[in-house]
Amino acid sequence: METLDEIPFAVDVAALLKILRIPPGSDRAREIRRVVRAAQKIAKPKAVYDMCFIEKKGDDRVEFGGSTFTSRVLRVNLDGAGRVFPFVATCGRELADYAASLDDMVLSFALDTVMVKALEAAITFLSNHLKERYALGQTSVMNPGSLEDWPLSEQRQLFSIFGDVKQLIGVELTDSFLMVPIKSVSGIVFPTEIRFESCQLCPREACPNRRAKYDPKLWEKRYRRSP
Ligand code: SF4
Repeated sequence: METLDEIPFAVDVAALLKILRIPPGSDRAREIRRVVRAAQKIAKPKAVYDMCFIEKKGDDRVEFGGSTFTSRVLRVNLDGAGRVFPFVATCGRELADYAASLDDMVLSFALDTVMVKALEAAITFLSNHLKERYALGQTSVMNPGSLEDWPLSEQRQLFSIFGDVKQLIGVELTDSFLMVPIKSVSGIVFPTEIRFESCQLCPREACPNRRAKYDPKLWEKRYRRSP
C-alpha cells in the first residue's frame, strides 16, 4: 500500500475567472485571487492505492485484497487481468475545510471549482505514478456506484482494503457510502486491452460528465451470462 501526498497542484486563475464570468479587473476578481492563493497554500491533494493480485473469480464475483466484489461488469472486465490497483483519491481535507469556512456564495463556488481541480490533479498524478511504477500499458477504471451492476455499497469492501482511510488521507465513508470530503473518488484501476468506460453502459441523457458514447448492445454482447 502506498500513500501519495506530495502532489503538485496549481490553479489557472484566469481560466477560473472565465468559468465564473467575472471581469479580471473587478474587485470580485481581486477577492477570488486572494482566496485562491490562500487555498493553494494549504491544498494537499492525496491518494492511497494498493497493488493486489486477483485471488478468485466467480461468475459475477471477484476477490482481491481480502475483499469480495460482486459485479458482472467488473468480473468480465478483469478477465485478462492478474492484478488490480484499488485506490481512493481526494482534493484533501485541508481544502475542503477552508471552503466550508467561507460564507460567500461566489467564493464558495470558486473554491468548489478549485477542489475539483485538486481532485483531478490527484487522479492524474496517481494514474501517471501507476503507469511508471508498474509499467502498465492501457488501463481502465471502474468506480463503485457508477453502474447499477456495481452498487455504491461496495465502497465498504474497497475501503476495507486500506484499513483506516481517514488516518491515511483524511477520507471518511458515511453510513450511506458517500465520501467526505465530497471531492473524492474511489475505484479500481486495471490493465486491459479493451478500453472500458462505465458511460458505455449508462443510458443517462445529457450527462455533463459523459466520457464515452452509450452502446445499447454492449451488455448483450459482452456481459450477459451464458444460459
Ligand atoms: S454518463 Fe454520466 S452518469 Fe452515466 S456513467 Fe457516465 S458520467 Fe456517470
